[in-house]
Amino acid sequence: MRISAYFMPTLKETPAEAQIVSHRLMLRAGMVNQCASGLYSWLPLGQRVLSKIEAIIAEEQNKIGCHRVIMPTLQPASLWQESGRYEDYGKEMLRVKDRHDRDLLFGPTNEEVITDIVRQYVKSYRDLPQILYQITWKFRDEMRPRFGVMRGREFLMKDGYSFDLDYESARATYSRIFESYLTIFDRLGLIAIPVKADSGAIGGDLSHEFQIMAETGESTIYYDAAYDAFSPEQRTFEHLQTLYAAADEKHDAANCPVPADRLKSARGIEVGHIFYFGKKYAEALNLKVSGADGQAIIPEMGSYGIGVSRLVGAIIEANHDDAGIVWPDAVAPFKVALITAKTGDAACDAIANDLYEKLQHARIEVLFDDRMERPGAKFADMDLIGIPHHLIIGNKAIQEAAIEYKNRRTGAREMIALSAIDTWINHMR
Ligand code: ATP
Ligand code: MG
Repeated sequence: MRISAYFMPTLKETPAEAQIVSHRLMLRAGMVNQCASGLYSWLPLGQRVLSKIEAIIAEEQNKIGCHRVIMPTLQPASLWQESGRYEDYGKEMLRVKDRHDRDLLFGPTNEEVITDIVRQYVKSYRDLPQILYQITWKFRDEMRPRFGVMRGREFLMKDGYSFDLDYESARATYSRIFESYLTIFDRLGLIAIPVKADSGAIGGDLSHEFQIMAETGESTIYYDAAYDAFSPEQRTFEHLQTLYAAADEKHDAANCPVPADRLKSARGIEVGHIFYFGKKYAEALNLKVSGADGQAIIPEMGSYGIGVSRLVGAIIEANHDDAGIVWPDAVAPFKVALITAKTGDAACDAIANDLYEKLQHARIEVLFDDRMERPGAKFADMDLIGIPHHLIIGNKAIQEAAIEYKNRRTGAREMIALSAIDTWINHMR
């Protein structure tokens, strides 16, 4: 992408309304635009990051046998009356009427709709277990939308729903998804601490919130230092289940099972929440399947959420410096920044154009700053928007046939001979 033709409205000044760094940087980098309180438009750069996160989540969920669907954002009130949640949900739910005066709502979550789908098609024990998920926009009329996309009113959520024949199988599904979540957050360059949460039903301790550590997190979490010692392979459900981690309101300092010298605390951002709730919705919506012996079985369910749009903010909270965002490669809107320090100079432009072609040919996502701007302003923009790998074409490109490479995260710089650039590109792929 050539910046001269791109839509990337970066801001020099710091927006006054933004209280936390991720919100400030997202506005300054031209990733989002606020349309109304808690409602954001995702501009091209932001849209790219969002869809990268979405793709990683989908890939990992598909890998463990979850199947992706898309359910409507508007739902009939009647389904929620069946489950009993229509009255309970309160003012967070946006209720609307259609032209025939029928009650609809903008879905804040989808247990009712998915259970309705499953009850129409799944009739036999042979059809289960099943895990269905979607990645769609939810609306919750939050009392205090804030921190940009972190607590929006319309936000992108991955929501999954599992259906199993018995508790053992439901628990196995839960642990599979728990581990898939750890892999997802790992791939996003985040360390997530699974904290036990209320499942709100008969689920006992089968509910976890996944918290990313960041100073601006909304809750304080207390956790066993042993979490930090685990290698990714050891971060299994059975292992982590046994470790202590609790949010502020649950933590009882006097009765904490972890000795004080091993107890750590940090601010956390909740990026995921999973829970097992047994037969609650299946019972309410009359979902049954026939068992091997002909007896009816009421399936065991769970739901599994990830705040996809919140993750964009959370990743920035965990990955930034004074100059701007520092994207992990996996979610960067572009992997390579190509910058001409002498735009207009024919030799410099020729090298840059040639390199731009090569990078595109190698299918490396490259953002080419071909604007007639001061080099300093160009470097600052690429730092601000956080592109991980910078290639700078300046005087040395012409005089010494070498271009400068800068690593955005470490700041390390080195010269790459033009004759070695193909190898470098291959390595980047
Ligand atoms: P919170 O306590 O932050 O309000 P929640 O318990 O209401 O979250 P869930 O219903 O479990 O959230 O939704 C799943 C995930 O969706 C959450 O873990 C969070 O990452 C994300 N999420 C929830 N509400 C919002 C929101 N208003 N804006 C952005 N993301 C949200
Ligand atoms: Mg909430």
